[in-house]
Amino acid sequence: VSQEYRNFPMVPRVVYGKGSFNTLGDILMPKRKHSEAPMIYLVDDVFEGSELINRIPSIFCDQIILISAEEEPKTNQVDALVSMIREKFTELPSGIIGIGGGTLLDLAKAVAIMLTNKGSASEYQGWDLVHKKSIYHVGIPTISGTGAEVSRTTVLLGPEKKLGINSDFTTFDQVLLDPELTKGVPKEQWFYTGMDCFIHCIESLNGTFLNAFSKSYGEKSLELCKEVFLEDISGSESREKLMMASWHGGMSIAYSQVGVAHAMSYGLGYVLGIKHGIGNCLVFQYLEEFYPQGVVLFNKMLTKHEIVLPTGICSKLSESEMDTMICVAMGMEPLWENALGENWRSLITAKKLKAIYQKI
Ligand code: NAD
Ligand code: ZN
Repeated sequence: VSQEYRNFPMVPRVVYGKGSFNTLGDILMPKRKHSEAPMIYLVDDVFEGSELINRIPSIFCDQIILISAEEEPKTNQVDALVSMIREKFTELPSGIIGIGGGTLLDLAKAVAIMLTNKGSASEYQGWDLVHKKSIYHVGIPTISGTGAEVSRTTVLLGPEKKLGINSDFTTFDQVLLDPELTKGVPKEQWFYTGMDCFIHCIESLNGTFLNAFSKSYGEKSLELCKEVFLEDISGSESREKLMMASWHGGMSIAYSQVGVAHAMSYGLGYVLGIKHGIGNCLVFQYLEEFYPQGVVLFNKMLTKHEIVLPTGICSKLSESEMDTMICVAMGMEPLWENALGENWRSLITAKKLKAIYQKI
């Protein structure tokens, strides 16, 4: 019963609108415990030297930490940030603010959790292993698609697995959605991260876990994705719509799950360090058996935006690396169950996954 009626946390506060970043100082002020308890801003280093940095309302002993999104977040990176913050300040921070894409948002969530929970982040990868409330944390996306701004997970690469810390304390306390912040995103990256959202919709809407709650969000998100990627809209209209598509896509999977592309993309990420967005695209193109209509739309989007996906990614893998990849993918049980139902084990074999990976 508890699985059926899950009691989900939602983001309790959200600001939306062009220029809304300017309200951040006012939002944070009442959350400041005192002058010795800083706000820590974890910011994508793509913004180094940019005007955005000057607009961050950093006062007292607040700290801005620039972090590269080159690699996806790791459990030991989270542990190192937490030790650094604990050593530098006598008090726990008043808040952690993540500014960037899924990478920075996930880091902010994980650091906020680990500042109040003992041990290493790797001990909390899984479902509902966190028992202490995290530090107040704020998510400010600068690229749209992952839904990390609304989700109850933070996906981390650990020593043994790539898996989220899924917990009620993971969800942000505050989100700020300012579509202007996504202005500088390079086209290919815009496409890959946007397709993460599109794939969330397809996997959620075609999954066995689907209910009316998820469907309502998934359908809205899919409609927005189609406008953004298949119609002739651009500029701020496109940025605004993709930001809301990401939000709804994230809400859609809250009460359902992702599916085949995500399970297999986790394998690519774990063994080859392939990033989430592009990894999903690399897999999804070969999933016509599972998502026939989705793959047709995906191919139209690729053509319209003249995106050429890389090839030969898995061609140099050793047998054992291929086995690890298959093992990581097959380990994502809830995803397979959502995609194919309780009987998924009789439908998915290592051989079948290998055949798909070999095409990539
Ligand atoms: P990202 O955060 O990895 O960033 C991708 C690239 O875009 C980086 O080079 C970054 O510097 C750049 N970038 C970001 N904003 C920019 C801007 N405004 N201008 C110019 N460049 C900009 O990308 P992503 O696709 O948003 O996130 C991927 C991560 O999200 C993965 O680690 C994945 O595991 C995670 N994820 C999490 C969830 C969740 O629910 N927690 C869901 C899906 C994905
Ligand atoms: Zn995703």
